[in-house]
Amino acid sequence: MSEPRRPMRVFSGIAVSGGVAIGRAVSILGPSLEIVRFPIGDEGVAAELERFREAVGETARAIEGTRERSGEFLGAELAAIFGAHALLLVDPSFVGVIEQRIRKERVNAEWAVHQVCQDLRGRFERLEDPYLRERAHDIEDVGRQLLQHLLGGGHRDLSDLPRGVVVVADDLTPSEAIRLGRAGASGFAVASGSLTSHTSIIARSLHLPAVCGLAHAPELVTTDDPVILDGEAGNLIVHPTREVLASYGERQREELAREAAAARATAAPALCADGTEIELMANVDLPEEIADVVRFGARGIGLYRSEFLFLETEPRLPTEEEHYRLYRRLVEGAAPFPAVIRTYDLGGRKLARELMHLEEENPVLGLRGIRLTLARPEIFRTQLRGVIRAAAHGELWVMAPMVSRVEELRRFRALVEELSEEVEREGAGAPRNLRIGIMIEVPAAAVIAETLAREADFFSIGTNDLIQYTLAVDRNNRQVADLYQPLHPALLRMIRSTVLAARAAAIPVSLCGEMAADPRHLPLLLGLGLRRLSLNPRSIPALRAAAGRLQVADLERRVARCLELGTAAEVERELAGALL
Ligand code: PEP
Ligand code: MG
Repeated sequence: MSEPRRPMRVFSGIAVSGGVAIGRAVSILGPSLEIVRFPIGDEGVAAELERFREAVGETARAIEGTRERSGEFLGAELAAIFGAHALLLVDPSFVGVIEQRIRKERVNAEWAVHQVCQDLRGRFERLEDPYLRERAHDIEDVGRQLLQHLLGGGHRDLSDLPRGVVVVADDLTPSEAIRLGRAGASGFAVASGSLTSHTSIIARSLHLPAVCGLAHAPELVTTDDPVILDGEAGNLIVHPTREVLASYGERQREELAREAAAARATAAPALCADGTEIELMANVDLPEEIADVVRFGARGIGLYRSEFLFLETEPRLPTEEEHYRLYRRLVEGAAPFPAVIRTYDLGGRKLARELMHLEEENPVLGLRGIRLTLARPEIFRTQLRGVIRAAAHGELWVMAPMVSRVEELRRFRALVEELSEEVEREGAGAPRNLRIGIMIEVPAAAVIAETLAREADFFSIGTNDLIQYTLAVDRNNRQVADLYQPLHPALLRMIRSTVLAARAAAIPVSLCGEMAADPRHLPLLLGLGLRRLSLNPRSIPALRAAAGRLQVADLERRVARCLELGTAAEVERELAGALL
């Protein structure tokens, strides 16, 4: 007997990556480390102890591996921390107590680990001696790794999903999104996230429809439910009716046809209605996208987020050779236009926090971007040598993220120059036209843009972070998503003064935040004086078409008025109708 048809239900969230996915849902619920207590009975104790000991063995092996690799990257001091972790795993006052708890209370190993870690951590945290207080972190760290092994792998096992499924999850990390996309998932519906979160950026990079901010959907959608994900409207439709299914099927076919036509683009500059030329470059996060640079007519690569290279080599950092090989591919893929390689923006909420051993209360204001790389010169040198070697093969521009002071730019330039000489001396080829630039994504940098422009070869404005830091609104926090306003007058003024500073110093300036990919913002950006944007390559055809409907002189007049306005809503009204 066939199952009775269930009523159709529509969940609405934030549209973060366009397109339509039709398929079966796979629901991934809950954080991977949710710990529950369950009794195992007398008969279960021996097996549970065995399971726990296996997890101890696996954790010890993983720590040893990290210790060996980190010795190379992080120096002896940090490698010693892993030594302390390894010792904990043979310490009877840690593992012995956990085993005792499993035996005495007849509980699952996860619960025993969790309880013992909590007790010990509490005790260490109350100690006066700062060295001993630090041990609390070690316990937490090792406890978490043990739990990951007990719960089955360092992360949720997402590798053997059937192809074509729509993943419905509470949250997805950028690396999970990449693994899922590469394993053939056809879309993501996520309860957390925002337009500019890195998971959303990855969905766009992989060209997968995605919707975020879908509170409750993960609990209410069951694996195998038939679903449609509408990445354009931001809807997840569960148990669609036959009519809805048919109309989305039609839309999907039209989209594929449109995309095939768009992919026959040329790399001529986009032209406004009055003949003004706009350079549209590509943001690249994953190697898969290099082919899109040419397919969608990008004039080079305006942003490569090199922290994503770590995802290819995880859990270790890339070697110089791996940096070099990928950057060379980027430079050759962007030719005859430049490829802008951004040095690691690790730290913050981004990747490799654990590898860097960062424990910060407020990581977004912490050791992130250029701050982190300057603080870990061994890591930075490896990357920069790869950059410099690749620069012998074409037009490579190197750029530092999160710059807030002139000193950072100076140290960055000095290091690039020193390493260029080193590489040249070794005979590995001289960089041809290596330019050294910075992201303008911290308000301080926008305010001192004039000073920075005297020492930088180019600017790229990162509005994703510039909005976050200017307005003090977390770019990933749904509670304040309505305050994350790209049209806020403060932001307009920051962009304007940065563009003017770059013009006065005769250096190129582009904008590479997600704002650049939205044709509705194009009138504003052109009116603010920008002529070069970098965006997801698949959005280039739509931007090219939008540019053809704009008169720059009219936009400059409108935007001059916007700069005098007080609210984002007023700016929006002033610009309404600019896109003909
Ligand atoms: C930005 O902040 O606008 C940017 C392009 O960088 P990311 O999104 O990687 O922080
Ligand atoms: Mg940024």
